[in-house]
Amino acid sequence: MTENVTPAAEKVVENLQHVQQRIAAAAQQAGRDSADVALLAVSKTKPIELITAAYQAGQRRFGENYLQEAVDKVVALRHLDIEWHFIGPLQSNKTRNAAQHFDWVHTIDRIKIARRLSEQRPAELPPLNICLQVNIDGEASKSGVTTEQLPALAAEVAALPNLTLRGLMAIPKASDDPNQQREPFAALAALLQQLRELLPEQHKIDTFQLDTLSMGMSGDMDAAISEGATMVRIGTDIFGARDYSLSSSLKTD
Ligand SMILES: *Cc1c(COP(=O)(O)O)cnc(C)c1O
Repeated sequence: MTENVTPAAEKVVENLQHVQQRIAAAAQQAGRDSADVALLAVSKTKPIELITAAYQAGQRRFGENYLQEAVDKVVALRHLDIEWHFIGPLQSNKTRNAAQHFDWVHTIDRIKIARRLSEQRPAELPPLNICLQVNIDGEASKSGVTTEQLPALAAEVAALPNLTLRGLMAIPKASDDPNQQREPFAALAALLQQLRELLPEQHKIDTFQLDTLSMGMSGDMDAAISEGATMVRIGTDIFGARDYSLSSSLKTD
């Protein structure tokens, strides 16, 4: 298993341990249990070899952004016990692939896409876990449902049969200031709390639905954890900087 370990794969394993330590430290600082902060390793543009290295080091959740690239990886790694998360923009003509190959989709901001995923989810698979993406900074150019439209969308998605509404996701404006970073994360946490009150049947204690705050990336993970993130999405700090020029499938997605 450890034959032919490349320096790049070794580096991923080392980075992964470092990120786990950072999660533990941030959780402790926030008075939280680090077991309540799941690590999603974002492997977009990265080769199978590095995903496998992280897997062998114990990582089980992986996130991908580009559907064709992602499906190729899911199929190639079918023999591994990986939980796959789709975290990229999803066009309505690509939903079938997402419904068939993923365990989670984090980027739902339109009912049309959610309906298609529910219709296309294969009957033999468990319901697809869904996070609604919120445009938390209210920037016109960004994807995500507005905070005003969120309750209506959540109610509609919650009613779809083959989906499980798990929570909210956001990608706030980048900032280097930890205090500024916390604001949108706190706002997202407050929105999830509102939804729990609005959709009590989706907040069953026994199943822990509406339990997910997907927030925090390499640059703002600590701030997200301090505001209640239950899943951080980390790419660069595990796999290194991305080189988009290597990936020809990205542009066609
Ligand atoms: C790429 C990406 C990440 C990971 O970002 P890093 O800064 O590399 O950690 C997280 N979430 C989403 C939605 C992404 O597209």
